[in-house]
Amino acid sequence: MGTHSRLQSPVQYLKGVGPRRAERLEKLGVRTGRDLLYHVPRRYEDATRVNRIGSLRPGDDATIIGEVVAKGVLPTRTRLRIFRAVVRDPSGRIEVAWPGQPWLDRQISRGDLLLVTGSVGFFHGLQLRPREHTVLAREGEAADGGLVFPVYPATEGLSHRQIRKIVEENLEPLLEEVAEREVFAPEWLNVLDLPRLEAALELLHRPQDLLGVERALRRLAWEELFFLQLLHARARHAIRSSEKGLAMLAPPALSTPFLESLPFRFTEAQSRAWSEIESDMDEAARMYRLLQGDVGSGKTVVAVTAMLKAVENGYQAALMAPTELLAEQHFRTLGRLLAPVGEAPRLLTGSITGRERQEILAGLADGSIRLIVGTHALFQEGVSLSRPGLMVIDEQHRFGVSQRRALRDLGGVADMLVMSATPIPRSLALTLYGDLDLSVIDELPPGRRPVRTGVRGYADRDTALEWIRGELAAGRQAYFVYPLIEESEALDATAVTDAVEELRARYPEFSVEMVHGRLSPVEKDSVMRRFAEGEISVLVATTVIEVGIDVPNATVMVIEHAERFGLSQLHQLRGRVGRGAEQSWCVALYGGEEVPPRLRAFAATGDGFRLAREDLKLRGQGDLFGAQQHGVPELRFADLERDSDLLEKAREKARAIVAADPELASREHRVLGRELVERYADREVLFGIG
Ligand code: ADP
Ligand code: MG
Repeated sequence: MGTHSRLQSPVQYLKGVGPRRAERLEKLGVRTGRDLLYHVPRRYEDATRVNRIGSLRPGDDATIIGEVVAKGVLPTRTRLRIFRAVVRDPSGRIEVAWPGQPWLDRQISRGDLLLVTGSVGFFHGLQLRPREHTVLAREGEAADGGLVFPVYPATEGLSHRQIRKIVEENLEPLLEEVAEREVFAPEWLNVLDLPRLEAALELLHRPQDLLGVERALRRLAWEELFFLQLLHARARHAIRSSEKGLAMLAPPALSTPFLESLPFRFTEAQSRAWSEIESDMDEAARMYRLLQGDVGSGKTVVAVTAMLKAVENGYQAALMAPTELLAEQHFRTLGRLLAPVGEAPRLLTGSITGRERQEILAGLADGSIRLIVGTHALFQEGVSLSRPGLMVIDEQHRFGVSQRRALRDLGGVADMLVMSATPIPRSLALTLYGDLDLSVIDELPPGRRPVRTGVRGYADRDTALEWIRGELAAGRQAYFVYPLIEESEALDATAVTDAVEELRARYPEFSVEMVHGRLSPVEKDSVMRRFAEGEISVLVATTVIEVGIDVPNATVMVIEHAERFGLSQLHQLRGRVGRGAEQSWCVALYGGEEVPPRLRAFAATGDGFRLAREDLKLRGQGDLFGAQQHGVPELRFADLERDSDLLEKAREKARAIVAADPELASREHRVLGRELVERYADREVLFGIG
């Protein structure tokens, strides 16, 4: 763009800024002219909704906007000094009094346009006692934008009014430049019913009414969602390009007999997921897919079917779990499931060493081992697969970044299937994992007995624990889970240790053991193993207890201080029970007087996706994101609930563009590429398996 771009120039060189103010603006994240344009008001004061001064009555709670026509500090007989101002609007005038704040005399002048909120009283006439006030404009300053006033995020030494002035003074030329740089074709904007960028920004900074503001925000939300999806689409394309993939078209010599050997039929959701996976594997492009479903929804059987498809095509298939215990559990499950079709997997973890390890490595390298289950030991030095065809990764978010990279490289051109038992709303999944294709199993197999959930205050803890004694006496097992304490492993260990003492004293006839973050992986594993084998009746833990651990005989989950857990976490914990034939129970104990809304929602449904949506609503997306952890930039304008329609369209559009023009090389797309770089250049963005 031209020789001199105000959008890109440091904010210091804009009108009315200079070095000192530039420093302060920097604190607000405003470094360039463009940042200033995108520094959108925190809120608006809508003078069309304020009370007319002439209609105020004693006892009203009111907001007024008017001009200061007189003011001064009046001493009273007590030593209290009161600042008073008379404020006028076209309907009348009223005195506003600030007792004990004489210094306001220096901040508020005659001619100022003042907004005041407070209660109306009577003292020699009507008087307003302010709770809050804002100087909207100084005398002579334009308040001519309309009757809706933008209030900007401000900082020490730079008031929202000063910012408004800076914005005002620079708005025209900045908007002119923006107008030349519109990246979306008019037809798109028409279809989406969105304003052009310069119009949207003008509406935000000089609103006529709040509806206009909403329309403008939607445009900014669209941009944000679209470019994030474009980034995802490019990452996905880089992995999926068809030169790299394997087309698996052999007859289903193993997968079909396997499906026939199962004592049940797939649920509709499983069938859908399987056919999506199947057609990905048929295609020459590399599969890169997330399989999401609640604990027990039947993901593993679907993944195993896919592994057999790879094998019947002459390839090897690997299933990777984040811990040894989970890997062993998967290994046993697969052994059981595969026996009818005459296949047997092998297991490779860190504790498999010596001759056995050598033998497995050799089998992987010469291709005689076709199905392998393991931990990250699978992608350490010296391990190589001769014909990798499918990598299934369980709970991939628990692998570290470098491990995930190694995984992808180990696979070479293999198809990738990532499994997750953390249900998240589709909108969030598309945002966090938009580079993966998404299959969702949103239905449980028939005949599951739902876990019964009780939410109790601490007054009822004793009764609940005595009732649990009955379950234990009947030979069943229980989990007691404690919240993490301020991320301190030492304190956690103490809390858990105390709890163990208490429970040992209460249940002397049963064995009570604990796991917490301070134990070594080996110690942890050994306790978990003894619990899985039924030697331990009560397992006391912080949230370190394994997400996928499957102990069908455990029928009781007690969650202490449940109010400190997020909904999704609570749901994960509850998923540890309810895996056997017996009725299972979850007891959520909360501190405080009233049942927190979150726990009410928790007790009301066992549907993980519904809870995840509820969680998104209750906590807001910022929190749920854990954005940094995922490497996904924070969303400033888009609201995943409100704008989910825009999100779907953004994804569709972004994928279509990348499919047609992956390098964004065409004239029409070049601007999009440039904008993409401008937005994300300074981030190391890591998505999905990336
Ligand atoms: P996930 O991996 O999603 O936790 P699994 O695949 O381990 O779930 O399935 C949980 C249990 O349900 C297993 O015992 C499995 O054999 C069984 N199962 C899976 N699919 C079905 C189905 N369609 N009908 C009945 N039982 C099923
Ligand atoms: Mg493929």
